[in-house]
Amino acid sequence: MTTTDTREPAPPAPPDPTRVREFVDTEIRPRVEEYDEDERVPDDLLRRVTELGLWAPFLPEEHGGTGTDMVTLARLHEEVGRGCSSLRSLLTVHGMVSWSVWRWGDQDQRDRLLPGLAAGRPLAAFCLTGPEGGSDTSVAATSAEPDGGGWVLTGHKKWITGGQLAGLFLVFARTGKAMTAFLVPADAPGVTVRPLSGILGTRASMLADIRFDQVRLGPDAVLGPPGWAAATVMTSALDLGRLSVASGSVGIIGAALEACAEVTATRPSGDGVLADRQLVRRMLSDMITNRRAARLLCAEAGRLRDTDDPGVVTASWVAKYFAATAAARAASDAVQIHGALGCGPRSPVARLYRDAKVMEIIEGSTELQQTAIADHAHREVTP
Ligand SMILES: Cc1cc2nc3c(=O)[nH]c(=O)nc-3n(C[C@H](O)[C@H](O)[C@H](O)COP(=O)(O)OP(=O)(O)OC[C@H]3O[C@@H](n4cnc5c(N)ncnc54)[C@H](O)[C@@H]3O)c2cc1C
Repeated sequence: MTTTDTREPAPPAPPDPTRVREFVDTEIRPRVEEYDEDERVPDDLLRRVTELGLWAPFLPEEHGGTGTDMVTLARLHEEVGRGCSSLRSLLTVHGMVSWSVWRWGDQDQRDRLLPGLAAGRPLAAFCLTGPEGGSDTSVAATSAEPDGGGWVLTGHKKWITGGQLAGLFLVFARTGKAMTAFLVPADAPGVTVRPLSGILGTRASMLADIRFDQVRLGPDAVLGPPGWAAATVMTSALDLGRLSVASGSVGIIGAALEACAEVTATRPSGDGVLADRQLVRRMLSDMITNRRAARLLCAEAGRLRDTDDPGVVTASWVAKYFAATAAARAASDAVQIHGALGCGPRSPVARLYRDAKVMEIIEGSTELQQTAIADHAHREVTP
């Protein structure tokens, strides 16, 4: 007699931050200066990210993900950011597009795109900023005109993370006075991708300048409500992006701290070592305190996102503002503590310094976060 096992197969396990930490230490950190110098991440690293299930782990199982919660996602992006901000940036934008398809896509778009996106095939890029400027999205010049049942897209997007690698672009374009989001294959006729090099930080994030010249799109290219993308697709994707950048910034502080703990313990100073010097100790204590505080803010933003709490918007601004400015400060102090060693070629702390500055600009600059947070001042003090 045979017995049939009627139990459901165990669901795939979400990626584990401890395992990802080991992956970062053994496979990324030994090679990260090479990525920075080459201004690209190698294919074998991208394959490892797929094997570890890191591209869009928050997607539900039915769409190829592992249903990873946002608090865990923040920890994962912290670990990757501790090793390589460029790779973390690629995860950020790919995650933003995958999230948008899941949250705003119709059944056909979800079925067609999500299993591939969960595995990073294709990679996706988020195309909002144009040469006309990024902070004020209302000035966007890229536009789409109705054409039969579909659309014709024309315009120019700049500074697009992962643009050199992506097979799918999420493009925000004006449709009349409103904004609509479009899913555009990178190989659609009329799309031209030009690599951007020589960027200050996140040098291996394979940025591109992308032109859309009369690109014809079907009606199924529209993601979310036509004309309402600014309040829907864009807002929720940027929220996720802020959580990811904030978490990556926590990782930068951690990497700065590790480098400084090592050098201050061994660098001679007077009768002792640098770690004995009070002014140096102050910088180390700020790094430790800010990392803890920033990590807690990320966890709070993640928890509010997990529970669909409207407070997530402000929480993500606060987390991103605090973590990005603290990372810029920590990386600057790390260069200071290393002295000339921090200024040399292939200096890890010099890379952190350049990467951290970028954290203050992307996903809403520090000034825009400050402005948005201040708008909530009255709500904060009302019991
Ligand atoms: C490495 C890198 C990767 C990027 N990746 C992407 C990507 O994948 N997709 C994408 O769409 N974009 C991307 N960007 C663009 C990024 O989103 C923009 O740089 C950002 O939104 C800021 O826009 P901007 O650079 O045009 O600066 P601007 O908007 O011109 O602002 C310049 C300065 O003025 C300040 N400022 C602007 N408005 C105000 C205001 N109202 N009050 C006070 N100060 C203000 C800003 O804080 C900033 O300091 C990337 C940029 C970089 C550097």
